[in-house]
Amino acid sequence: MDDRLLYILVVFAMAIGWLLRGDQRLKRSEILGPNYYDAVNHLLNEDSDRAVAAFIEELKVNPDTLETHLALGGLMRRQGEFEKAVIVHENILANSRLEREVILNVQLELARDYLLAGLLDRAEQLSVKLSGEKGQVLEQSRKIMLEVYETEKEWEQAIAVGQQLAHGDNTEKYEKAISHYYCEIACASMEIKNFDTARYAISEAVGHYANNARATLVHGKIDLAEGKYQEAISILTRIRDQETVYVPESLKSLSLAYSKAGLPMDGLCQYLESCLEIIPSISIALALATLKRDQMGDEAMAKYIADYLKRNPTIRGLTQLIDLHIDNTRGIAKQNLTILRSFAEALVADKPAYQCQACGFQLKRMAWRCPSCKDWSTVKPIFGLEGE
Ligand SMILES: [Zn+2]
Repeated sequence: MDDRLLYILVVFAMAIGWLLRGDQRLKRSEILGPNYYDAVNHLLNEDSDRAVAAFIEELKVNPDTLETHLALGGLMRRQGEFEKAVIVHENILANSRLEREVILNVQLELARDYLLAGLLDRAEQLSVKLSGEKGQVLEQSRKIMLEVYETEKEWEQAIAVGQQLAHGDNTEKYEKAISHYYCEIACASMEIKNFDTARYAISEAVGHYANNARATLVHGKIDLAEGKYQEAISILTRIRDQETVYVPESLKSLSLAYSKAGLPMDGLCQYLESCLEIIPSISIALALATLKRDQMGDEAMAKYIADYLKRNPTIRGLTQLIDLHIDNTRGIAKQNLTILRSFAEALVADKPAYQCQACGFQLKRMAWRCPSCKDWSTVKPIFGLEGE
């Protein structure tokens, strides 16, 4: 930012201070019109370091200028300039003449800045301190604490705070989250082969959210890891009636459990067919097609996929169908099929396969917690031509 622009900013800031001192009757909204914010925004884009420093130096914090400072802090945060939002909010707090209620609210803002800036220790310290308050300050500080513990993967602490937040209209939301914290504990315990803890955590997960398909999935994986194949099958097949969209997540474990148990695959075929009656999922259809190939050969598989694609066209299904034909084709036809396959693959290569039902955020890989809105169990497969 050149000095001329910086000068404009400083003059603006000083003029506001002067106007506010000169005429207390004048409403702040009349002084700080949209042009002012545009100007500030522009200046901050040019050189936000100097602009912020000049701003907080020139416009002293007092009850009349507080909103302007808060607006600047909010602007910095929206622009992803979390460390500058910290500077603005810390500067407000350095002014001790503000009312206690105002100070508490600014401290909440600051705790959020710390969280977003990745200063988790400071965010935790401040939000724990604010959780000694009452009402909205208590509620908001707990939400910040919860996010800190989720980010740090401190699941035990997240469970404790989640339980404090699970009341009134929020009960279902936080009970669901707590169920996932127990799933996280179960997965971590499984990795170190501590199956007793994993099983205990899964029973807690089910207790907090009975229809958590992830808890069922992890339960099935524990059974599988402990060689209890029949149990794994009866557990994993519950997912169809809980949340059928998550059946594709269980296919690998389910197929392994069937083969380890030495059971005829007919049972698995029937189960997959019953799932397809509920949702048109190409992952399930392809798993079923593979089973048909093992029993009846390539031709039966190709016919099954072709019939399925007529009803539910997807590019993933098409590439699979091409693969089945490519080996039995020669010469120019084989070359053409290879080109067609690479086109089809390119069409879906960079496409997201999952989407959060709460905020619309799209992902390439499955996640139980949305990376954008941080909600649990909201990410589901995308259906249609380019997806499932
Ligand atoms: Zn989301």
